[in-house]
Amino acid sequence: MRKLLFLIITACFLPLSAAVITPDKRWPNGSTLTVWFLDGTPDMQHIVKRAATTWSRFGNISFRFTRQKPDNGSHLRISFSRYDGTRFGAHSDIHDNTATMYLNSLASSHLSDDYKNRIALHELGHVLGFEHEYRHPHWPYGNHWLKQQQVSCQQRLSDEVSDAKSRCESVNRPLDAHTSWWFPYDDHSIMNYPTEAKWLEDRSHDLEPTLKLSALDKIAMAASYPFAHHQYIQSTSLPDSDSLLTNSISFINRCPYPVTVRFKATLSSQSNKLTSLYLTHLQQSDQYQLVSPSLHFKALTNNGLHQWSDDGDYLHYDISHWQGNHAQIPLYCSNS
Ligand SMILES: [Zn+2]
Repeated sequence: MRKLLFLIITACFLPLSAAVITPDKRWPNGSTLTVWFLDGTPDMQHIVKRAATTWSRFGNISFRFTRQKPDNGSHLRISFSRYDGTRFGAHSDIHDNTATMYLNSLASSHLSDDYKNRIALHELGHVLGFEHEYRHPHWPYGNHWLKQQQVSCQQRLSDEVSDAKSRCESVNRPLDAHTSWWFPYDDHSIMNYPTEAKWLEDRSHDLEPTLKLSALDKIAMAASYPFAHHQYIQSTSLPDSDSLLTNSISFINRCPYPVTVRFKATLSSQSNKLTSLYLTHLQQSDQYQLVSPSLHFKALTNNGLHQWSDDGDYLHYDISHWQGNHAQIPLYCSNS
């Protein structure tokens, strides 16, 4: 009997419960993914459509939806008949008829629409290649939560497969900083789980569930699936970790308010050197040369409502994991 082999990435919405991406599990940039709804009511399907459209706003991936079997195959096949689980990232068996995603939570009468939207955004994040935030190489809260995830995963899978232990270990260990692309660790990422503080070292309060894409989720999507004008070199392979492919950066302000960006180290452009810049809505900055594979910056809207920083300190971006000789960093905020 065919087992549910991919049911290892689950949306844990029970009381216990950016972004990091596996680059070679991405779909080809610019893809339109065909989504075949195998069952479900129009209301459930609408939640998925809305979440997919949200991701599409921030990266170069789009979705096409159908309730009939598509002649040319399907990239996602969604059923609402079993507990939530998603096949991770890109795959090639587009002519199969079996589900690649289950979303039974969307049939629940006990969850709010906002929470169902969260679940759809989270599962679609896995489809795009985004990992759980608790596997981030810089996850700051110790290993208790990973061990707990390992235990609950084994309990779920032990009746279904014989190698539950190794499967669960493979999806619940910290990700290697050299084989994943990671953006700054983000408490607010849609890829994080709500988590009780008792599982978190050096943290006194719970991780609350995030209901929307965070600013860093949006930036990670934009960098992982760049629109054409971002000038990235397209490749599915990782760059040599010793070489700095991305040697210049620029910013674009996609927040509706003016933003001030401050750099920890002086950057240089063709015309000047600077430690800060001011950008109005949709304004692009000059291109600045990087002298190291790291970029430290913080940014703040002029009304003080949005900031991009790490507890008041500078955000640290390791640009060496990015591709292309130029990276444009969009400054999104929650209402972008
Ligand atoms: Zn998940």
